[in-house]
Amino acid sequence: MSTAAPRLRFEQLGKSFERQAGQPSLRAIDDLSLDVAAGEFVSIIGPSGCGKSTLLRLLAGLSEPSSGRILLDGEQPGSLLGRAGYMPQSDLLMDWRSLLDNVTLGLTLSGVAPAEARRRALAELPRFGLEGFADSRPATLSDGMRQRAALLRTFLAGRELMLLDEPFGALDAITRQSMQQWLLELWQSDRKTIVFVTHDLDEAVYLSDRVAVMSGRPGRIDFSLAIDLPRPRERSLTVTPQFTALLAQLLAQLLAPLGEAAARQADGSRQ
Ligand code: ADP
Ligand code: MG
Repeated sequence: MSTAAPRLRFEQLGKSFERQAGQPSLRAIDDLSLDVAAGEFVSIIGPSGCGKSTLLRLLAGLSEPSSGRILLDGEQPGSLLGRAGYMPQSDLLMDWRSLLDNVTLGLTLSGVAPAEARRRALAELPRFGLEGFADSRPATLSDGMRQRAALLRTFLAGRELMLLDEPFGALDAITRQSMQQWLLELWQSDRKTIVFVTHDLDEAVYLSDRVAVMSGRPGRIDFSLAIDLPRPRERSLTVTPQFTALLAQLLAQLLAPLGEAAARQADGSRQ
């Protein structure tokens, strides 16, 4: 294994879904390539339906690419299942189980003894702002706490690579900002590699070392932007000219296809 190999490499990745007989298959992702370095925080943004969740599911080993490869440290694993901590788009907490039983579920399913799983989870509750809530039902928790519980379940999987699919998408703006701050602190102390999916430009720039922009379906990565803002980051950064300039670059990239479509339409109507 070469030390120069990126932690994670998507190589001309493609994913199609079969549809009913007679219909062409649906190309969700096509020719997508991206490298992620160890310890890097990379966000993937793109319009709804462009294949972001599909990409994370491929990376989590829950579905297989139709073409291309995913490499970890320069090698193609037999299976990617269990190689990354994965938090799906919906938090999937079970309301009939206590918070502790929810967050230890992944560990016990992977063979860790229940007592050991509980010990590890209890030790992490304070860092996740959940101390004293081990026995609570998820329905009695705030939205932010539920999201932190889902993140704790993902962190407890103990993987160096974390895949987070719009983890804060359903939160109100204030809760969202405090969760972003909390996630940055967590990342800064653990230095896991994070692939973070969002459709929120501001969130992507604020959190990331790099933002990759996906085109509309079939999803491809057309553009990736290094976010060379200082760390640790604070909200006051978001009103600086540097921050705004980065946002503007990403927005231009996301809106470019709309501009092209409008230009084509204008051309068409002139003929
Ligand atoms: P995003 O997360 O960017 O909003 P998704 O990855 O969820 O987009 O979906 C990309 C495209 O693939 C959509 O058109 C969606 O309907 C389709 N798709 C996703 N999963 C499946 C599946 N299991 N079967 C068929 N089509 C799917
Ligand atoms: Mg999605």
